[in-house]
Amino acid sequence: MKYAIIIPDGAADEPQEELGGKTPIEAAHTPAMDAVAARGRVARACHTPPELPAGSEVGNMSLLGYDPLTNFTGRAPIEAAAQGIELGSEDWAIRCNLVTIQDQTMRDFTADHISTEEAQELLATAQAELGGDGLEFVPGVSYRNLLLWRGAQRAAPFTMDMRATPPHDLTDKSILHDFPRGPGSDELNRLMAATAELFAEHPVNLRRLAVGKLPATHVWLWGIGRAPKLQPFAEAFGPRGAIITAVDLLRGLASLIGWQRIEVPGATGYTDTDYAAKGRYAVQALQEQDLVCVHVEAPDEASHEGDCAAKVRAIEEIDRHVVAPLLAALEATEDWRLMICPDHPTFLRTKTHTHGAVPLALAGSDIQPDAFDRYGDTHAAQTDLAFDAGWQAMRWFIQDA
Ligand SMILES: [Zn+2]
Repeated sequence: MKYAIIIPDGAADEPQEELGGKTPIEAAHTPAMDAVAARGRVARACHTPPELPAGSEVGNMSLLGYDPLTNFTGRAPIEAAAQGIELGSEDWAIRCNLVTIQDQTMRDFTADHISTEEAQELLATAQAELGGDGLEFVPGVSYRNLLLWRGAQRAAPFTMDMRATPPHDLTDKSILHDFPRGPGSDELNRLMAATAELFAEHPVNLRRLAVGKLPATHVWLWGIGRAPKLQPFAEAFGPRGAIITAVDLLRGLASLIGWQRIEVPGATGYTDTDYAAKGRYAVQALQEQDLVCVHVEAPDEASHEGDCAAKVRAIEEIDRHVVAPLLAALEATEDWRLMICPDHPTFLRTKTHTHGAVPLALAGSDIQPDAFDRYGDTHAAQTDLAFDAGWQAMRWFIQDA
């Protein structure tokens, strides 16, 4: 049996006035997605339990078949896995954004898109002055960096009750009540204050100020967690899998469940991604793999920008360049199944992720069709086939459907 999964990140949405009361998925011209729905089944799934953040980290873990309520241990450890960083059972990973805070307000959660080279320089200073003995500042890309706390070398005061607000939720807001809080937060707040002192007169910031750019005033520590222990996918479900994605969270999740990662030139994680290249690589990968998953971030990005036309366009590109070729390739084989499902809705109205159900379509060589012939949010809302614990849909997709 060959399997394909397509994840149009954040594609689910509400009906839009400017689309004549249709949702972006429904307004988009999607003959391939509709063919999947017509030949197979339409369901709905909720991948973001109300107890957890409605983010891609939770939604995709559920979509891949793992209950986030028992498996989700924070965002930073998944990103550490994407970078190939091994975490021991005592270790904690923490997101370490470079940010611009002015007058106790989050001016810019990207520190004015600080370059990777500048970030490396700032983190090297932090490491030299504050790191060591189990504390590691790990540069990533631009403002997105990590802090590792190796518990074997330095007693870790944290528990899973520690909370910190993601900096991108604080843009132009006061930060006074959003510093890390809960068990162990004193240590993180101490580090944040110490970096502010180190960065104040740092050559990187002096250079940035001289050319009119915002300085990186602080590190913002959030997303803390220990490595999740996810059963390898092949062991839990059977098929050996591979993923195509341009997003570190998905790369990390794939690594944690033992999937191969296929890097596609031109895949950007944005609306300018090379959709056709992703489709080509996916079809190619199917020859070797039992299961190929293609994740496309573009609909989510368009939603964050509140750009309805771009969201519709992204969904159409996915349909034409990813779903259509995969469906054609699978239909040329004997035994196959294909599933389309976003990880969470991202509303154009609020420009952010939200909890709630997403539409799922499944077709396959042995799947009996239901009455639905279109793929869409309102169709999915009408079906009796609902996975309130969305992670259970994977077992259904692989064997029970
Ligand atoms: Zn997402």
